[in-house]
Amino acid sequence: MYEQFKELIVQYGLKILRSNHVSGTSGNISLRVLDDLIAITPSGIAYDRLSAQDIPIIDLHGRVIEGDLKPSVEYQLHTLIYRTFEDINAVIHTHSIYSTVLSVLHKPLPAIYETLLMIGDVIPVSEYANAGSLELAKNVVECMKKSRAVLMANHGLVCAAKSLEQAFDMCETVERGAQIYVMALSTGLPVHQIDQEHAREAIDFLRRNYGQQP
Ligand SMILES: [Zn+2]
Repeated sequence: MYEQFKELIVQYGLKILRSNHVSGTSGNISLRVLDDLIAITPSGIAYDRLSAQDIPIIDLHGRVIEGDLKPSVEYQLHTLIYRTFEDINAVIHTHSIYSTVLSVLHKPLPAIYETLLMIGDVIPVSEYANAGSLELAKNVVECMKKSRAVLMANHGLVCAAKSLEQAFDMCETVERGAQIYVMALSTGLPVHQIDQEHAREAIDFLRRNYGQQP
């Protein structure tokens, strides 16, 4: 069951691999298939070897409902996000290089250019906890109350959205912003942010005019 959801997980697994957001078997992806069920990447299987039948379906407490493979070790991170935010349908966790550089520095990413403003004023860094722990999930969810993209201290990035397409776009935007920020910081010169008044105007303008909305 839920074939089309499993296919999407496989497709976006290849996308995060080919866009260099992950290497090997790192990172994980999930998608809500019903109010209380998600499809999630299995633990330790390379993205380019993954097929739809490998994708487990689990409930929001981590019990496997369908599939033979063990779900991602970060299933608690994913399930706690879905339990906390009813409007979230997709979660992507990556080890994108520049986002991880900021996470190692424990340095939040300010909205240094306009596209980042669409995600928020600042992408926060959640407090450190070990990979796969409930503590890590709780720390990320705490930050996610303010920003749907979170840098995980000494670990990576997690983006949550209404769809996998949106979550993937967020990963791309945050990573590009992080790259620009790290490169700007490395010059040693002052890094300027967009002032609050212009930031508010930019968000308002982009929400009303960006894209092909009628
Ligand atoms: Zn990770």
